[in-house]
Amino acid sequence: MSIRPFRDIKRKKTKVINVGNIKIGGDNPILCQTMTNTLTTDIKATIKQINEVVDEGADLVRVSCPDQDSTKALKEITKHSQVPIIADIHFHYERAIEAAENGAKCLRINPGNIGNKKKIYEVLQAARNNNCAIRIGVNAGSLEKDILEKYKEPCPEALVESAQRNIQILEDQNFFNFKVSVKSSDVFLSIAAYRQLSQVCDYPLHLGITEAGSFIPGSIKSSIGLGTLLLEGIGDTIRISLSDDPIKEVKIGNEILKSLSLKNRGVKIISCPTCARQAFQVIDVVKVLEEKLSHIKTPITLSVIGCVVNGPGEAAQTDIGITGGGKGSNMLYLNGLQSQKISNDDIISKVVELVEKKALEIENKK
Ligand code: SF4
Repeated sequence: MSIRPFRDIKRKKTKVINVGNIKIGGDNPILCQTMTNTLTTDIKATIKQINEVVDEGADLVRVSCPDQDSTKALKEITKHSQVPIIADIHFHYERAIEAAENGAKCLRINPGNIGNKKKIYEVLQAARNNNCAIRIGVNAGSLEKDILEKYKEPCPEALVESAQRNIQILEDQNFFNFKVSVKSSDVFLSIAAYRQLSQVCDYPLHLGITEAGSFIPGSIKSSIGLGTLLLEGIGDTIRISLSDDPIKEVKIGNEILKSLSLKNRGVKIISCPTCARQAFQVIDVVKVLEEKLSHIKTPITLSVIGCVVNGPGEAAQTDIGITGGGKGSNMLYLNGLQSQKISNDDIISKVVELVEKKALEIENKK
């Protein structure tokens, strides 16, 4: 059972591009990406981290390629990745060519930064020959000198002008398989820049509040910035940029998409904040359930509510529900209907059993 959104989001129809075997833009799902923070030359550690974030729900992973050893390592890394790898390149056009030849399915590079037309042409040839897309990644912290001089400071118009300049370079070379981002660490600047860009550009947009900070402030800034844009129908891929574990970036990114019903993956738990009325330890139960149900990829809703004040109402809206009752007799709900009473000690095992069963049923029906 899923909750019908009060208002559907009217998503902007962007062009569709290919990143490896994934289509981005148009009506295709909004994807969540992250970036490794291992040394790319440490192939084993990088593959391990890619597998971990993919397991958490990352659809795309970016890997930094600051030198030739890193682009060499990409050859092995891309062979072992279940999702397309995006190579992060700055300034050096040779690294971009090597990355495309070594299996990257997208290059995050600004064509305006890589030198003359011949170099740009060579990068685009390598991208074409290797089915590799490009992300133009404009960043308020690294705007072109002349644009910064013109506008005096990073502002939405400056970010959009930089994006349009880079778009023009690719279009002049008949290269259209690209997406664009205009990131800033400032929520207001990011929102205004993406809004303006969305007005003048039909290419898919990659959203992010860059260098958003540590876990809590970064997640909140990203949720406000990206949430505002996504609600307006802007955005085709997202990345949460945290000074923290990339797994957490994916968790937060997917939670933002799930909270707007833009992605359905895994168990969505609705739980109460607890108070003196709770009939079982809701906080502890939710923590354990999150852990024990993290392997479920099928979209399922689960309510865990401490008492009858809100329990039956929430359970009526979820696939599985548990509502606290007096003297350890809590009520289990299936598809919104009362199913059976269970004791506090049985909550976790019973809920895990039911969620796994429900997931299997849904998968078998597909
Ligand atoms: Fe308290 Fe019940 Fe509300 Fe939970 S649902 S916070 S236990 S009143």
